[in-house]
Amino acid sequence: MAVLDVKNLKKIYRPRFGGNQVQALSDVSFDLESGEFVAVMGESGSGKTTLLNILAALDRPTSGQVLLNGQDLTAIPEGRLAAFRRENLGFVFQDFNLLDTFSLQDNILLPLVLAGVPYGQMQKRLQPLAAQLGLTELLKKFPYEVSGGQKQRAALITHPQLILADEPTGALDSRSSDELLKLFTRINEGGQTIVMVTHSVRAASRAGRVLFIRDGRIFHQLYRGACSDEQQFQRISDTLTMLQTGGERHA
Ligand code: ADP
Ligand code: MG
Repeated sequence: MAVLDVKNLKKIYRPRFGGNQVQALSDVSFDLESGEFVAVMGESGSGKTTLLNILAALDRPTSGQVLLNGQDLTAIPEGRLAAFRRENLGFVFQDFNLLDTFSLQDNILLPLVLAGVPYGQMQKRLQPLAAQLGLTELLKKFPYEVSGGQKQRAALITHPQLILADEPTGALDSRSSDELLKLFTRINEGGQTIVMVTHSVRAASRAGRVLFIRDGRIFHQLYRGACSDEQQFQRISDTLTMLQTGGERHA
């Protein structure tokens, strides 16, 4: 079943005070099966963050639809969006806004507690997950005591069905990047669906599929199929070269 069905997305940014409008997305359509791990690549300014923000219901498209398990995100009233995101989505961005005076565990539980879920009940749900992900000790720490990579791992613990990551390895050293990618692979094998924007060919070659965006359109996609890491790395590199040199290719 398709977890995510993206139909004819268009996004135009209109400046409030003069200046030119920018068409960040033009007619983007694709769908994602449950349990897929998809990387999104494209040059800076091609529309990757715009796409991810719309998938995350953090921004609305100018036209088009995003169906998450059949529910149209663009039709959810503003007042319901925060709760919807909390219940259904997980975010892994370069920087987390964690509160320094709360432990990582309390940072994770805070939005749920504010949403009316009893603290004790949340803790009971969190403990087995933490153990499974090897995060039990980490959760007791405070944000300033842990690395960027560790914060990102902690953010995955609420077990969202769809994880949206915008350049998650962008600010990490190579060891932390490796750890995060291994964790992504592991949780993906556990059935969670992942969309990861990345500039890293190595990171993208871990995904089952890579979508390439150019000028707000899907230019091409590559399924990993039976390719080895090295073969997939090469295919992605070749496609990026074609993107940059302006070759013609359509998804
Ligand atoms: P990417 O993440 O691939 O670098 P973005 O989605 O951030 O690309 O941007 C796509 C285009 O939309 C760029 O031309 C960018 O300048 C423009 N853009 C992004 N956000 C805004 C905004 N809030 N207002 C106006 N233009 C924007
Ligand atoms: Mg971006």
